[in-house]
Amino acid sequence: MRITFLGSGGAFTDHRINYQNNAVVETSEGLVLVDCGTTAVQSLKELGLHPGDVAAVVFTHLHGDHASPEQLIWERYYTGRAGPPAFARTPLCGPADLLDPLVQALDPFIGLYSDREGDVRTDGTAALLDLRRGSTLQIGGLRIRWFQVPHVEGVGVRKAAYGLDLDDGDSRVLWSGDTTFSPQWIRDAVEDPRVKRVFHECTFSAPFRGTVHSHFDELRTLPETVQQRLTLMHHTAVPDGTDLGALHGAALRHEVFDL
Ligand SMILES: [Zn+2]
Ligand SMILES: [Zn+2]
Repeated sequence: MRITFLGSGGAFTDHRINYQNNAVVETSEGLVLVDCGTTAVQSLKELGLHPGDVAAVVFTHLHGDHASPEQLIWERYYTGRAGPPAFARTPLCGPADLLDPLVQALDPFIGLYSDREGDVRTDGTAALLDLRRGSTLQIGGLRIRWFQVPHVEGVGVRKAAYGLDLDDGDSRVLWSGDTTFSPQWIRDAVEDPRVKRVFHECTFSAPFRGTVHSHFDELRTLPETVQQRLTLMHHTAVPDGTDLGALHGAALRHEVFDL
């Protein structure tokens, strides 16, 4: 499985340092874009990729650094590799509790548009999007399964937030999405020898009440054999002098992983 990070930054990252924590997974049907923040298209272009190369966009949750696909949608429609325009629809994938509110939020931005005949239409969210609702997806030999993680969770309320289980038949890779520290699924996952890596979000910010992320010090409490299977992401930059210990490094912008 080949995974390329478009960025490994957090929501507040300076884009001169890192882009938002999005990635592409290569499949026989094209690229699966894992989350699409505001920096995704810029990063694709720097890698020589075109928004039209994306075969599916999968979302982990609705925060701006993960679910801001407007530019991608327009560029797929009005531009193309063979010359503009391509009028390509954009496949958005994920559980209904992510996709339905996302489409509602996109409606004021893409609902009204000018079609290939030059007619102004109001059905943009239906015509420009190809919605694939569900907690599993099969595409190009890759099976994706969404599983719930705690990201913003209180008494009786929880934000829809998911990690991803990616399986190409040879390898499994787990992707935490944004989550507070929830070690049980990590421990369970690494018991499968086919799990080649767990990409886990991490913050190096000083811990504070109200954080919705996993702190580096919390991840370091995992058994060393588990830490060895973890690569950090969503961290923006590893502070100088940090000892990553048994952890399997921290992903860089545009870093490629063959797993
Ligand atoms: Zn985030
Ligand atoms: Zn988030």
